[in-house]
Amino acid sequence: EAPLLEVKNLETAFDIEGTDYNAVDNVSFQVKPRQIVGIVGESGCGKSVMSLSIMKLLPKGIGKVKSGEIIFDGKNLEKMSESQINKIRGKDVSMIFQEPMTSLNPVFTIGYQLQEVLFNHMKISKQEARQKAIALLKSVGISRPEKLVDEYPHQLSGGMRQRVMIAIAIACQPKLLIADEPTTALDVTVQAQILELLKEIQAVNDMSVILITHDLGVVAEMCDEVIVMYAGRIVERADVDTLFHNPKHPYTTLLLGAIPKMDEQEERLSSIQGIVPSLTNMPKVGCRFAHRCPKAMPKCFTVTPVLGDIEQDHEVACLLYETSIPREGVK
Ligand code: SF4
Ligand code: MG
Repeated sequence: EAPLLEVKNLETAFDIEGTDYNAVDNVSFQVKPRQIVGIVGESGCGKSVMSLSIMKLLPKGIGKVKSGEIIFDGKNLEKMSESQINKIRGKDVSMIFQEPMTSLNPVFTIGYQLQEVLFNHMKISKQEARQKAIALLKSVGISRPEKLVDEYPHQLSGGMRQRVMIAIAIACQPKLLIADEPTTALDVTVQAQILELLKEIQAVNDMSVILITHDLGVVAEMCDEVIVMYAGRIVERADVDTLFHNPKHPYTTLLLGAIPKMDEQEERLSSIQGIVPSLTNMPKVGCRFAHRCPKAMPKCFTVTPVLGDIEQDHEVACLLYETSIPREGVK
């Protein structure tokens, strides 16, 4: 089956005081129809920047896609004009974020904001839009949608607001939903309910999902395939069972070891020593994880590992493996 989304050699740079720094560095992956792909890594690993690149929502004048291709449903998004992108965004591809309060407009009712999306992409009457808004709210598990449709965002709990965001995101039945830390701001019980809802909606609507999270517990629960990112690069990619049972990259192994027990809620990844290098401090050569890696060898500081197939459908970028050793002359 042809992929729904194909990201090829994506490089996204941020301009910091006149110099370009790659926040996403030569990233390639695919999302197949109906697949849920998890992108994991600590904050600062380029996960959100990657999704903003796909959505063409990088901060103007600061972030830009420097090279690479983003092919969605057979169309090269990089070659599209702003108005062409606007037709796709919110309709065929949509996105939900960590903090729904910041994406909902406080001065408009929930109904108004839902209808706005519908009007943008469909030819329907006001009456139809209101009915559809109510139906959408119902489909995301809101019990009294007729009442909620006339309420304002601040009248809702965090969990309800995230349900509303999901309703907005699926209003036009997108083929791809990008969810960036959709449950991070919610408490555990609500978190589980929202994940359950996402799963259900994915199945009912036959859509693909990119789920960005720092939480491998969420990945285990939700995803078919997992991409592990570190410092702007993919370091491992595999199906969810392989990644959990046969991780190859030392970073993945450490992430897995950092999954908390039920009673520890916060700072899930704090057990890995050290921090992700900042954009302006990225090592020029070698493995970007080397200064934190318990298995680092001298060559890790001078040779840049390449992402290679360690077995079928399992890629890793680590010099412990033959397949990651660059050929002569290759960066
Ligand atoms: Fe560790 Fe070296 Fe592998 Fe990087 S390349 S993850 S430093 S062993
Ligand atoms: Mg992020």
